[in-house]
Amino acid sequence: MFSSLRSFTSLVLLVSPLIFCQSFVVTAAAKIENSQTNWFNDFKQQASDKQLYKFLYNMPKGADLHNHASGSNFPRWWYELAINSELNGGYRYYTKTKLTLCQGYGQNAFGYISPTLTFVTIAENIYKKLSACEQKNYTQLSSLTPKEIKAWEQSIWLDKDYEGRDEFFQTHWQRLNELANNPYIAAEMLVRNMKAFGNEGLIYLESQFNVTGFMTPNGKPQTQTAALNILKERLAQDDAKQTGVEVKLVYQLLRFTPNAEQQLTDIYKFVDQNRDLYVGINMVGREDNGKGHPLRFLSTLRELRQQYPAIALTIHAGEVDEPNFHIRDTLLLGADRIGHGVNLLGDPQTTLLMRHNHYLIEVNLISNLLLEYVDDFKKHPFPEFLRTGIPVALSTDDRGMFHSNLTDEFFIAVKTFNLSWQEVVTLSKNSLEYSFLDHPTKKAMLVKFDENINTFTQNFEQNGSSSLQKPAVLNQFIRRYYPQLTD
Ligand SMILES: [Zn+2]
Repeated sequence: MFSSLRSFTSLVLLVSPLIFCQSFVVTAAAKIENSQTNWFNDFKQQASDKQLYKFLYNMPKGADLHNHASGSNFPRWWYELAINSELNGGYRYYTKTKLTLCQGYGQNAFGYISPTLTFVTIAENIYKKLSACEQKNYTQLSSLTPKEIKAWEQSIWLDKDYEGRDEFFQTHWQRLNELANNPYIAAEMLVRNMKAFGNEGLIYLESQFNVTGFMTPNGKPQTQTAALNILKERLAQDDAKQTGVEVKLVYQLLRFTPNAEQQLTDIYKFVDQNRDLYVGINMVGREDNGKGHPLRFLSTLRELRQQYPAIALTIHAGEVDEPNFHIRDTLLLGADRIGHGVNLLGDPQTTLLMRHNHYLIEVNLISNLLLEYVDDFKKHPFPEFLRTGIPVALSTDDRGMFHSNLTDEFFIAVKTFNLSWQEVVTLSKNSLEYSFLDHPTKKAMLVKFDENINTFTQNFEQNGSSSLQKPAVLNQFIRRYYPQLTD
């Protein structure tokens, strides 16, 4: 059926060492497609959406370089762990289900959260400090009715057309509230992500994961060291290792906070001391809040670079819907990767700088649509990056809050932009090539990916779609946008 496939896979094996040695060769999308990859064009034309999705779910992938630890967790996982005190370290949680007016209303212990926001979740130690009247507004999570559980889960994912950027930034994190401060849940969630991404064929996760802000069940601050040990112990368990997914972490700085420079200094020191697990630093937070503009951090970073050996930077930039020079300024900070880069084309000089260069853009198609930075996938600059030699990889950002996965990103990219096989493979290779892994590990990962993709294509050549497993999940985002996948 796909007669030229074997010769294509042989070609990949033959040229792999060359690709690895001259990374820029593979990062720039080929302008002239290899005629031996036409089997994928034939497949795309003949396959139903369901068959294409199944193919892409089974397809070996490289890495996800842009995913936030707490935003990557599905609402169902949050609920399961929140009510399971064996898995969550013995914490118990309550969530706000009523809005009865009490004396001192609005003067609660978490002043940054609107008192009229429902499904804000608090730990038991906070619940016990509330007045009797306020306590009546909360229900223990384990006592919610099935209808309430569904509503609670929907409150932390963008499941409605009218929900967008404000819902995401102003309510999701505030609702999760103290659930996101539990180091056992955070560690367990990372392993769940390893399993789910592993099922999709990924071999490496570079997750944005902090060990600050965690609390004990009694409401005492958890030290960074204690939280890091909880994580390391969880990652050392058999089920985590059996995923076959390598994990490294990136520390996030919330860029617009008043003491962000001091936090950056502390983070730099921490990452330097924990290079076995931490491979870089990111800066996060709404870019339309000007208090976190990139150049604010230039002098701090220059001081830090005088004291510490190099630490890699990947920084959110260009995740806005107006033109500015944030990407240029972020490169000036020393970033090797740019998160999102949606507004790059509005800055022609920086666009030229990034062509056939070594700065990768972490593209998050679903995030950019749901958070309203593009109003249609067709308007996303991704194909312009990919096809003019700007290195790109696909990633999932906060996929738990979008109810999506990396297969969905590939499916949308293939469907919307008619990706060739060479382009699909390039995206995965880029995700490994531009990772912050040390050189020997990166080399081993690239070899492993080549083996995986060659085995996959050979099986597919011999057995067609019968070589493919049914996807373990079909998430809500892709069900909503491509209802034909559920028929
Ligand atoms: Zn992000």
